[in-house]
Amino acid sequence: MTLNSVLILTALLLSRSAETPINARVESSLLSASENIRQLAFDGDKKTCFISAQNLGAGDHFTLLLNQPAEVHSIVVETGKPDGTDLLEGAALEVSSDGETFQELARFTKGIARGAPKTKQVQAIRIRSLRAQQNPLVIREIILDSSPQVAVFKYPIEFIIQVSDAPEMKEWAEKAARACEQAYAMINEELKSDGFKPRRVITMELKKDYDGVAATSGGHIWGSVKFFKEHPDDIGAMIHETVHNVQAYRGNSAPGWLVEGIADYVRFFKWEPTKPQPLTRSRARYDGSYRITAAFLAFIVDQYDKAFVRKLNAIIREGRYKEEVFMELTGKTLLELDEEWRAGLKP
Ligand SMILES: [Zn+2]
Repeated sequence: MTLNSVLILTALLLSRSAETPINARVESSLLSASENIRQLAFDGDKKTCFISAQNLGAGDHFTLLLNQPAEVHSIVVETGKPDGTDLLEGAALEVSSDGETFQELARFTKGIARGAPKTKQVQAIRIRSLRAQQNPLVIREIILDSSPQVAVFKYPIEFIIQVSDAPEMKEWAEKAARACEQAYAMINEELKSDGFKPRRVITMELKKDYDGVAATSGGHIWGSVKFFKEHPDDIGAMIHETVHNVQAYRGNSAPGWLVEGIADYVRFFKWEPTKPQPLTRSRARYDGSYRITAAFLAFIVDQYDKAFVRKLNAIIREGRYKEEVFMELTGKTLLELDEEWRAGLKP
């Protein structure tokens, strides 16, 4: 190989790997059987699978929607439980270039369908049942070869909404739930630590008799019907609660202002990095909680260590938090950091 061709090959490889993967979401007419959630059908792991709660009816579908079109070279869909039962027979594998009209690509035989779409750009891939079957839909894995690549669900999650208190809020709750599902991978990357397994199912319930904004405990989020009716744009409040579910701190090793500050740091500095409202020195205090502590943490991330919040989160998760960790991670005490941060703010 000449030096030139090596350079060209290297450039090609770099450009391919530099392509940002496309994100996807899943829709289905079928509910999930407990923890066997939809995203497990596209998580890069054949050992985990989506299992529907009901048996397949004619017309039931499971659809993978790409956030933007991709050139899909090949699709393989493997169905059935690892023990070889519940294989899909006769259903259609379909593709769509606009997410609305679908063309059949292949039929399932012995649980597998595969094909190479003729349409250049694919925006959705659908598995559609053509007749009722005496078994649930079990999808072990959808395997796509495409450019750009479509990112598999590294942190599979499913939100279940409960709106029996206010059925008119169903549409809003669905929207909020989808936003939280889409943010889940980012939140888990920001707060990842060795051996931590985030939960896969979170229930989001809207309550009439709840006076606060929102709260969370053990995989259940409560939101106020009144508040979200008056503030429908405040989906960030549900992102904040989702962060609490990922924090999953046991015991009370960290003070409340820090737990809330980390949740708002992920919300305001990672999920909706709008122009953060400039804090004045008189309002700023490291333990001001919520967005004030969030701004303090952002200062440390910016000035000392890009991975500061991730490291701090890992320490709290392990129940090892004490104030001295600020010194361990930055070489400065909490009060020194606070003083330095505030000195840089407008009075
Ligand atoms: Zn909170």
